[in-house]
Amino acid sequence: MSRPLSDQERRKQISVRGLAGAENVAELKKSFNRHLHFTLVKDRNVATARDYYFALAHTVRDHLVGRWLRTQQYYYEKDPKRIYYLSLEFYMGRSLQNTMVNLGLQSSCDEAIYQLGLDMEELQEMEEDAGLGNGGLGRLAACFLDSMASLGLAAYGYGIRYEFGIFNQKIAGGWQVEEADDWLRYGNPWEKARPEYVIPVQFYGRVEHSPDGAKWVDTQVVLALPYDTPVPGYRNNTVNTMRLWSARAPNDFNLKDFNVGGYIQAVLDRNLAENISRVLYPNDNFFEGKELRLKQEYFVVAATLHDIIRRFKSSKFGCRDPVRTSFDAFPDKVAIQLNDTHPSLAIPELMRILVDEEKLSWDKAWDVTVRTCAYTNHTVLPEALERWPVQLLEALLPRHLEIIYEINQRFLDHVYATFPGEHERLRRMSLVEEGSVKRINMAHLCIVGSHAVNGVARIHSEILKNTVFKDFYELEPQKFQNKTNGITPRRWLVLCNPGLADVIAERIGEEYVADLDQLRQLLNFVDDDSFIRDVAKVKQENKLKLAALLEREQGLRLNPGSLFDVQVKRIHEYKRQLLNCLHVITLYNRIKKEPNKPFVPRTVMIGGKAAPGYHMAKMIIKLITSIGDVVNHDPMVGDRLKVLFLENYRVSLAEKVIPAADLSEQISTAGTEASGTGNMKFMLNGALTIGTMDGANVEMAEEAGEENLFIFGMRVEDVEALDRKGYCAHDYYERLPELKQVIDQLNSGFFSPRQPDLFRGIVNMLMNHDRFKVFADYEAYVKCQEKVSALYKDTREWTRMVIRNIAASGKFSSDRTIAQYAREIWGAEPTRHRIPAPDEPRE
Ligand SMILES: *Cc1c(COP(=O)(O)O)cnc(C)c1O
Repeated sequence: MSRPLSDQERRKQISVRGLAGAENVAELKKSFNRHLHFTLVKDRNVATARDYYFALAHTVRDHLVGRWLRTQQYYYEKDPKRIYYLSLEFYMGRSLQNTMVNLGLQSSCDEAIYQLGLDMEELQEMEEDAGLGNGGLGRLAACFLDSMASLGLAAYGYGIRYEFGIFNQKIAGGWQVEEADDWLRYGNPWEKARPEYVIPVQFYGRVEHSPDGAKWVDTQVVLALPYDTPVPGYRNNTVNTMRLWSARAPNDFNLKDFNVGGYIQAVLDRNLAENISRVLYPNDNFFEGKELRLKQEYFVVAATLHDIIRRFKSSKFGCRDPVRTSFDAFPDKVAIQLNDTHPSLAIPELMRILVDEEKLSWDKAWDVTVRTCAYTNHTVLPEALERWPVQLLEALLPRHLEIIYEINQRFLDHVYATFPGEHERLRRMSLVEEGSVKRINMAHLCIVGSHAVNGVARIHSEILKNTVFKDFYELEPQKFQNKTNGITPRRWLVLCNPGLADVIAERIGEEYVADLDQLRQLLNFVDDDSFIRDVAKVKQENKLKLAALLEREQGLRLNPGSLFDVQVKRIHEYKRQLLNCLHVITLYNRIKKEPNKPFVPRTVMIGGKAAPGYHMAKMIIKLITSIGDVVNHDPMVGDRLKVLFLENYRVSLAEKVIPAADLSEQISTAGTEASGTGNMKFMLNGALTIGTMDGANVEMAEEAGEENLFIFGMRVEDVEALDRKGYCAHDYYERLPELKQVIDQLNSGFFSPRQPDLFRGIVNMLMNHDRFKVFADYEAYVKCQEKVSALYKDTREWTRMVIRNIAASGKFSSDRTIAQYAREIWGAEPTRHRIPAPDEPRE
């Protein structure tokens, strides 16, 4: 057994954060002072914390530049297959610490900033989150960029540079209030505008057919201006590019239009074009068929495909003939991954380019398109599936609609040849949905136009094959795959939980950061008292730190000895924050009923944003804050139970909350959460999971052993059986007295004394039309929570279970996920190969 190390010994041994050499530190200080002077134009007398942040950001960024240029040059020379990850969302969060971690600069920077008499954490807090995402889907894209760079793939993230990301959430009087996220106000040191690579994107117009083929004419043009952000790999000198497009009106915008009043109006109207990249739509798992959103989706697709084809044509080996490009090699040189259907117009756009502009035959173009594109499905919720009205497409993208119709015609001919006489099957599989409004089903378009279709956890991929996409699976089973999601251990362990990363590195070395399966070695330490103590101590430190932060920022006082029970994720009925609420009220009622009975103290924290137009989600937030108002001020409760709503949940808050959690709430109705990634972050950071057999929880239980999670409630089969039988909430209400009491309290205004009917809508939903069957899992959930509390009393056994979970979390590295995408979908080989650094000799 190993002797605990002193802090100093630990710092010497562990270089997870890089080693702080005296020369490096001196050089960093010099660079920092130079940037403060020349870039920020400030001196130490007038500089603010923000100035210091920018000076440090520029200093760190300088270390990226040579590696970035070298990497791109290396890709040009070697011409590997390029991977294009197309996404309407990249939820990146902050970049400063991530860059320091991946470049191994953290210790040197810490020391330099310390020697300059400044506070690193204060500077880091000045960085705005790049909140260009809603939740899991956008954060997945960000984790994938980190892993693609860390695995040496020649990959690019392509998306939109929204001027306003996900709104900032304020809580006023217990209600959510949205505030615009003006994240670029102080400038963004991580991006580089590339106006020289601006690309025209066309909208509207009409199609002319002639013997030469189709021509899209009389279009309106909007310019796509690229901004590049470096994506550093973990200590391998690779720096990839995330290219985000910003919309600009052309200089002659509306000026030559006869129907426009004049010059001033024309200049003012430039906003109409530039609104395309103004704001991220704040819906998570919900389709809102707005024209501006459709413009965004086509805008990113058109600009990106233009870029991809330009790069292919100018590549050294890919395409030699200067007169006429052969696209035969295109699918061997290019992979396009569609992050949900949001960029699905890439399929008809690639067809349009190949057929109308490059003059390939339809069949040739289709072969190239299908072999190039692959589609990831992220949800089975029907309200989330994109189904664009034909009328909208016809006006905005007339040629693309024609192409979609042609794809559909040929596809249905093929289906009918395979399943003769099955007219009902044709109707179900058509890309075109008939009805009061005629719509295009974009998931169907993606399946037909891709060579691979994947779900994001094993159970989800099975549901796709067996239910939502059953017909498509029967036609082309070879297309269907699973790629269980993952998270990057750089941000979600080394960056956010350095204490735990160190304690692990002391036992198993630090290679695990790039090879997370090595965490299995921690099983050798489940009986090691010094390790158990270290892990418990790190958790306690993280809890104290979060408690201090919440007291500072939200004026909340919490009991750091209590069990930190955390549910942070978007607010959605399917995620069942309401089930959590019912449990909290049950605990409250139990304390009130038997105030002298022993009680394991709990702090329940719930955080997440509600889509601004989602009424029920906003009511759920108001309910959580209202429960807190009653529970937190009841003297009989004391510090045994607290209910907190965590304001403005986002990447940078996740980094502080997750390392401090004891219990992770993953309680969606089985069959509704495609994967979840929050669940994985908690597991890696030493929280135990209470969850249903849904999404990736299933595989977490498989990796750790079901006995090491708190699994409860209906499985998918049980939910289906209950559906067949008919779910009746009243039955549970009548049968379970504690549930009845909670619902009666909500109904009578116990938690909203000044507005007794405030929560009637929630009660009515739960009792009469609850799609997610909250009551059906209530009893099992409450019983399971009792087991949680019982185990928590035994710190040692609790911590041993935590260690077994950390040891089992290796599978959930996004490095594993990306290696599987690379080998099984993209036909590219991932390597941990190190490109030589700028100051090293070339190979
Ligand atoms: C990981 C993450 C999510 C996804 O959480 P789920 O629990 O999987 O829904 C959402 N928001 C943020 C800020 C995240 O970091």
